[in-house]
Amino acid sequence: MEDLIQQAAKDLASCKEAAALTGAGISVESNIPPFRGKGGIWEKFDPMEYAHIDAFMNDPAKVWNALLKDMKAIIDQAKPNAGHLGLARLETLGKLKTVITQNVDGLHQLAGNTDVIEFHGNFAWHFCIACKGRIRTEEMTLSEIPPRCACGGIYRPDCVFFGEMIPAQALWRSRQAAAACDLMLVIGTSAVVQPAALMPVIAKEAGAKVIEINPEPTPLTGEISDYLIQGKAGKTLSAILAELERLLQRP
Ligand code: NAD
Ligand code: ZN
Repeated sequence: MEDLIQQAAKDLASCKEAAALTGAGISVESNIPPFRGKGGIWEKFDPMEYAHIDAFMNDPAKVWNALLKDMKAIIDQAKPNAGHLGLARLETLGKLKTVITQNVDGLHQLAGNTDVIEFHGNFAWHFCIACKGRIRTEEMTLSEIPPRCACGGIYRPDCVFFGEMIPAQALWRSRQAAAACDLMLVIGTSAVVQPAALMPVIAKEAGAKVIEINPEPTPLTGEISDYLIQGKAGKTLSAILAELERLLQRP
């Protein structure tokens, strides 16, 4: 693992423009549980019963009570961890341009990255399904479940539910960023949700190096990624950044 950290630092030092694809795993150290894997939300819930748009429209109170209420409480409090801060530092160093994230927690922007594509929307905003009026999630009170807009319509998060389309702009910009980078970091994603998992494939086909950081192998491992650094995002990125800064300071 030490060797791979050195290797990643060297690869970053020599790359021109890196991109990152992140998933729920990068926010685990900020105490936001992932969907899949150990401690994942899908151990408790069937996604089709709670995270599909049809499930929400059929019974919004059920989805609000089981899932969204807790998500709001957790995300309202969450702070960026060493993983998010490492990616922000990589941007400051002029190495990382775009972060494509499947996360909805806004932590990359809080950490300081300025070009973040939110592939699955965000939880920072909700909108009314009747009048489309928007409200910041922090300002929305949950005195009533489901929460309602002044017009009587139900609020839903500005996230992509299963069964919904990826925002066209996010998809288009992500494909562009994946094709343009010469190194892609793939961090904390199980790489099974499409079309997000296609971005490393696009990067690879365009000749980029693909480096995965994840405690577990994924379908990309050994197929698309050049190597997997098997570890947690925060600790691994801190170690890579320390080594990279050492390399960049060398005359
Ligand atoms: P996922 O839940 O399917 O998989 C999480 C991955 O993170 C796994 O591969 C796991 O091995 C890895 N992981 C666990 N702890 C880690 C750590 N400390 N460091 C690095 N990796 C770690 O996540 P996904 O691939 O992003 O897909 C699930 C969907 O869930 C996404 O589309 C996203 O919209 C949504 N989601 C978002 C959040 C969030 O915003 N923080 C949280 C849960 C789910
Ligand atoms: Zn309304």
